[in-house]
Amino acid sequence: MSAGRTLPEPNRGRLSDGREILLFDVGAPPPLGVDRRDLPPRPAAPQTVIRRDPVTGDEVVISPARQDRTHLPPRRECPLCPDPDGLTGEIPAADYRVAVFENRFPSLAGSSDPGSAVPAPADDLRAERPGVGRCEVVCFTSDHDGSFGSLPPRQARLAIDVLAHRTEELLALDEVTEVHCFENRGEEVGVTLAHPHGQIYAYPFITPRTESMMREAARHRARTGDDLFDSILAHEVDDGERILVRTALTTAFVPYAARWPVEAHVYPNRGVRRLAELTDDEADDLAAVYQSILRACDALYDRPLPYVASWHQYRIGAAEGRLHAEVFSIQRSAEKLKYLAGSESARDAFITDKTPEDIAAGLRAALDPGVHHG
Ligand SMILES: [Zn+2]
Repeated sequence: MSAGRTLPEPNRGRLSDGREILLFDVGAPPPLGVDRRDLPPRPAAPQTVIRRDPVTGDEVVISPARQDRTHLPPRRECPLCPDPDGLTGEIPAADYRVAVFENRFPSLAGSSDPGSAVPAPADDLRAERPGVGRCEVVCFTSDHDGSFGSLPPRQARLAIDVLAHRTEELLALDEVTEVHCFENRGEEVGVTLAHPHGQIYAYPFITPRTESMMREAARHRARTGDDLFDSILAHEVDDGERILVRTALTTAFVPYAARWPVEAHVYPNRGVRRLAELTDDEADDLAAVYQSILRACDALYDRPLPYVASWHQYRIGAAEGRLHAEVFSIQRSAEKLKYLAGSESARDAFITDKTPEDIAAGLRAALDPGVHHG
């Protein structure tokens, strides 16, 4: 990897059940207290399995233990707020800037035991293996009522650097082939904790969407000799109609074939595979443009928009791929949600009633005054 900048080094500790916790700061990270909770030790072996769908070839993670996880606790019991006493929360510290810890109810956990080879599948149709990998929670701020879009710029940049740090460290694990940093925001998209946080899934397989993107990028390169994402960016700039923000270093736009009622993609102008490859200036600018898109989302209907924000990054040595963020929402008007109905959920065939150009016009009008439209 060509490291574009220095990433922050965390203060590392363990929670009472053995899970790792990391505190990050712009300067020296704050001290960690002691987790005094009496938690059952976490299981040594993965508790989930991955089965391959023989019809589509897609992997499915089967994770029954997640049924029991915490669901929207009252604010005073928020497990993501700093807990100086180490008695109730997940973060035993007087305060923190950005905190990361291993998920207590992980869909993927642990590594393959090198001594015990995964048994060969009974046959091609029944391929099952342990759900190895890692799931982490990232608290973007200690402020319970904050949001990523409204973080001070330095804090947003730190959060981005933390995602970069985690991506590099997790991709270095033998069992991990893809790292997905994302934020689910709003009860409408299944969020069970109101505190501003994201998640990191380190998968032991390439996800279906990444597979499709890599396939299309390889096809485009074979046909034209060009990088798919460079071509997309050049066409978007040329068209102009769907551009939301364009700076010297970053471009945000509504994709040509947007599938969601609100959708925006944020690309660094220079093609890199991962967050860690950005220079300081690029990382600052990407964080700022990303935040302006999140604020526009909230301004759109004058209420916090439920959204999913997903960072696409590619493993070391990947032949194709470009770092970018995709932000989308199922909110199709101030009152109405788009539910995935038959065509979408049964066929992956999206039908949308808003043109991408109209989505772009709406988001542009909702941007902070003075944001550059390119
Ligand atoms: Zn909280």
